[in-house]
Amino acid sequence: MVTRGAWTNWAGTYSCNPIAIEHPENEAEIVEIVRSARAAGEHVKVAGSGHSFTDIACTDGRLLKLDRYNKLLSVDAATRTATVQSGITILQLSDALARFGLALENMGDIAYQTISGAISTATHGTGERFRNIPSQVTALTVVTAAGEVLACSEQDDVETFKAAQVGLGALGVISTVTLRCVPAFNIRSVQEPRRLEDLLERFDELSADNDHFEFFWFPHTEWAQAITSSRTQEPIAGKGRSGVATYVNDILLENHAFGLIQRTARVNRTWIPRLARLTARTTSRREINDKSYRVFANERLVRFAEMQYALPRERLLPAFRDVRSMIERTGMLVSFPVEVRTVAADDIPLSPAYGRATGHIAVHVFHRFEYEPYFREVEAIMKGHEGRPHWGKLHFQDAGSLRSRYPLWDRFLTVRDRLDPDGLFSNGYVDRVLGKPSGGAVHSSGWQQSRTSRSRRPSKAG
Ligand SMILES: Cc1cc2nc3c(=O)[nH]c(=O)nc-3n(C[C@H](O)[C@H](O)[C@H](O)COP(=O)(O)OP(=O)(O)OC[C@H]3O[C@@H](n4cnc5c(N)ncnc54)[C@H](O)[C@@H]3O)c2cc1C
Repeated sequence: MVTRGAWTNWAGTYSCNPIAIEHPENEAEIVEIVRSARAAGEHVKVAGSGHSFTDIACTDGRLLKLDRYNKLLSVDAATRTATVQSGITILQLSDALARFGLALENMGDIAYQTISGAISTATHGTGERFRNIPSQVTALTVVTAAGEVLACSEQDDVETFKAAQVGLGALGVISTVTLRCVPAFNIRSVQEPRRLEDLLERFDELSADNDHFEFFWFPHTEWAQAITSSRTQEPIAGKGRSGVATYVNDILLENHAFGLIQRTARVNRTWIPRLARLTARTTSRREINDKSYRVFANERLVRFAEMQYALPRERLLPAFRDVRSMIERTGMLVSFPVEVRTVAADDIPLSPAYGRATGHIAVHVFHRFEYEPYFREVEAIMKGHEGRPHWGKLHFQDAGSLRSRYPLWDRFLTVRDRLDPDGLFSNGYVDRVLGKPSGGAVHSSGWQQSRTSRSRRPSKAG
């Protein structure tokens, strides 16, 4: 199936006008699209669920939507691995795995992403003993620029495999993905408002003692919402997340009350500190016991723009304190919380957690507010702490500043030059953060930043 029209990402920060939007149903169709685009001199790009905040999924060529290429293909009970078509969303995958008594080891805080979108940008959850989602991948197939299906895994063609585990969509179309799963488990999660200073003092202990720990600090207040979760194989008693009452509490009240506060902040920015105190006060203690993926996956009804940096774990709290001081020093008005998480080190060349235990700091701005002044200040702090940006979240870096942050950078580029020498899978974002491939026959680009985020430039961040 082929459709036409503009494509916009979830946050509304970027849009593009592809030549065509294709919905292939099998691998042979993907191969055919790649071959004919190549013959016509057009770019190719896959858009997952469009949940990246950057222009990473934009194209002036053919856009592939894999919403008809999203099936669970097989489950190997002996090795606890599952092979899927790459367009499956994490929610669809989790539902399918549950029928086999399996689950993903860890997830981010939503489940709308496609598995291939999540791995292409190194999507992760929280928990210092758990690695990111691409680390759970054991094998992949990729349709390359030559229109060939290349298989790679932890054992075969390891160099390509490690590059494709976090490939930024720059190596080809990921076709199938094999994931290492774990026996299905339940989670008991407690969300509660806590004094920020107390959390900072006890952060190391809380992170070490709990499977999953994170907090959201409300700027202009001394309060944060802490989320502490533990894993269990035991059946769980108590409140799940699926009932109507839970929906009302979790989603309607929390998201809508928060949305109302953001819209009120729009009327008069100077109200933000008072509204932040109100937000901190309206969050309450809550305990959820449910299947893992139902606890990890949240609804996000209030749209926002986000930047996130991965830092060496020991730099996490100093960097957080610097962000807090910067907000106080500059008088910036920030209406969205700052999120702090941890993740284990991995060995994937372009993973922001490559080679180091990692802490993440994420800053957010309501989608109707200008993000750039705030995000640039935060980015300057993160650079000083050896930060690496999340590939799917907004940042202002390019290949020149990123290269020294990744010890295996050049090895990744060697794989890219081999698989896509002429930049068939390039776009503005990929060219900016990686540079052009060696063949360099890259066409002009047609993506643009959405007017909604480009036109407002107030002097203070929201
Ligand atoms: C509300 C919200 C919450 C989020 N929470 C988290 C979180 O908790 N943790 C975290 O780390 N991130 C989080 N993110 C970021 C998000 O996980 C990533 O941006 C992820 O890449 C989005 O997946 P997607 O399917 O929407 O991919 P897209 O954003 O559509 O695409 C991302 C990249 O993957 C490429 N791609 C997709 N499919 C293929 C394929 N088959 N072959 C080749 N390339 C492909 C695209 O071309 C693009 O380069 C969040 C984002 C939002 C909006």
